[in-house]
Amino acid sequence: MSACIFCGIVAGTAPATKVHEDDTLCAFLDIRPITRGHMLVIPKLHATNLDDLDAALGARLFALGHRMAKALRRSTLGADGANLILNDGKSAFQTVHHVHLHVVPRHTGDIRSFATGMLFRGRVGSQPDPATTAAAIRTGLDRLDLEESGAKDKEQHA
Ligand code: AMP
Ligand code: ZN
Repeated sequence: MSACIFCGIVAGTAPATKVHEDDTLCAFLDIRPITRGHMLVIPKLHATNLDDLDAALGARLFALGHRMAKALRRSTLGADGANLILNDGKSAFQTVHHVHLHVVPRHTGDIRSFATGMLFRGRVGSQPDPATTAAAIRTGLDRLDLEESGAKDKEQHA
């Protein structure tokens, strides 16, 4: 689907700051963020909405969103919470018709809810330095990997 901007990002023909990529999924920074580090997790294979998305791929999509939320808490962005939101269909205010899961870092004291943040997106918490923001999130992923491999080692030696 050449007219789809997110397919363009997957193909590398449209610009984006990617945070993670594997064989089936991609995570990149939202260009109109609610807070710094706001990401979108997408399947690489175009699916317009949830009706169109393979269930196993949907499960993998959420698993990566889950992982990203945990990485944000371990990153230097200082998040202590996250909103994970998927707008499915025009009636749900989906504006880009390639399935995407929003992962939005949140901080104690944030004054705007996710819903209010959607109205103000791009006007607050812009991504002034996307490369640094993406690197901070990747550091969170590395810390999560370390924690998980440490926990596995402990289990094996218990
Ligand atoms: P939704 O309303 O759930 O469809 O959200 C679509 C999201 O995609 C919005 O938060 C936009 O800021 C974001 N977006 C649109 N185009 C791009 C792009 N080229 N790169 C990154 N994010 C984008
Ligand atoms: Zn697409």
